[in-house]
Amino acid sequence: MEKEVCWNITARCNQSCKYCHRFLKVKDLPYEKNLYILNNLISSGINNITWTGGEALLLDRIDDLLKYSYEKGMKNKLITNGKLLTPDRIDKIYKYLDSITLSIDSIDDDINDLLGRGRTHFQEIKKILDYIKLKKYDVKIRINSVVCKTNLNSIDKSISFLNNYDIYSWRVFKFMPLREKAVINKEMFDISMKEYHDIVKNLKEKSNIKNIDTRVEEDMESKYILILANGDIVITNNSRDEKVGNALTNSLVEYL
Ligand code: SF4
Repeated sequence: MEKEVCWNITARCNQSCKYCHRFLKVKDLPYEKNLYILNNLISSGINNITWTGGEALLLDRIDDLLKYSYEKGMKNKLITNGKLLTPDRIDKIYKYLDSITLSIDSIDDDINDLLGRGRTHFQEIKKILDYIKLKKYDVKIRINSVVCKTNLNSIDKSISFLNNYDIYSWRVFKFMPLREKAVINKEMFDISMKEYHDIVKNLKEKSNIKNIDTRVEEDMESKYILILANGDIVITNNSRDEKVGNALTNSLVEYL
């Protein structure tokens, strides 16, 4: 049975997405403390970690944590915006990973710029996908996309691009004004449930990707344990985040 946590290993990020709902103002822990938390997760029976952020690859010695985790039998899933995923880095860490999740909201540079990802984002993701395809690396590729007002009429252009690759799954998020910038910029991005479901229907009809999942706000609540960069264990209910413990001092067993 899969026992999973989502670990926001750092709150820092090298992109500035205007719809971002990550927890801000949370400080990173040093390597030794993160290793302690990792051992806590392992001894609590967790067998599946989603490493995310912020941008997880910004964390000092994240590669060592991934290696250690892999050697202890953990299934590691990395979510990354791809900015630091150079060919050398892929060569080094792909073997520790069950999957790499990359973000594509649009293949249009202007839209990526408007969203705050930056004009070069699409080309950076394309390079990563091309490199992994060339090397035939045995790592699942997952795609995350956020559907919002800005890309509503253009996200389907990603379909023919993604159809060139062996994509394991495509997770299509509805824009979620959960916290921080996403709340401040709600008017700029919010869409209706009907608009969202129409988009997902269209993607499912035209894409070669077999696993296309939906994610709306309720799916983010009480479905998994979230650990922040400072070790806080957080559960979200009715759009409210509640700190229920800290992985430096609490076993995870009671939350599973
Ligand atoms: S959505 Fe992800 S990549 Fe974008 S700013 Fe937030 S953490 Fe960074």
